[in-house]
Amino acid sequence: MTTSTEQPIATNYNNASVAHFGAPETWGGVTAVLSQTGNEYQGKIWLKDILGLTGTELSLSSLPAGASVPFDHTHTQNEELYIFLSGEGQMKLDGEIIDVAAGSVVRVDPAAVRCWRNTGTTDLVHIVIQSKAGSLEQWTAVDGTMLEEPPVWQ
Ligand code: ZN
Repeated sequence: MTTSTEQPIATNYNNASVAHFGAPETWGGVTAVLSQTGNEYQGKIWLKDILGLTGTELSLSSLPAGASVPFDHTHTQNEELYIFLSGEGQMKLDGEIIDVAAGSVVRVDPAAVRCWRNTGTTDLVHIVIQSKAGSLEQWTAVDGTMLEEPPVWQ
């Protein structure tokens, strides 16, 4: 996928969907369409429609050196989790500016006014997860069920 500029189509299985987008440093070259508006974006790949997600929206994102998201925004009901994979940047959260870099994770309440920018010399590669604030009822060891039989790889 390193040379593609089109988002891949998912392969659907019985209880799963799979799509391959290549290494994170190539995400900046992928162009994707946001189905809700029909607008095309470079370096921003929303996965809800591609994978059929039902509890979260998630985007794979890459912001080029020197760029800022060109608008502040809030959300109505979704909190967001920003996971920064590489590069250096800043987030503005209700006017407070924080530095972010590879390994930074930032949770943002729906009402917070947010923006982010790349302050480094390489792409700022990150993942943004949206989920309904307050919706998580069980997780990890409580939600997961370990089966008794060991895994078999055929
Ligand atoms: Zn958002």
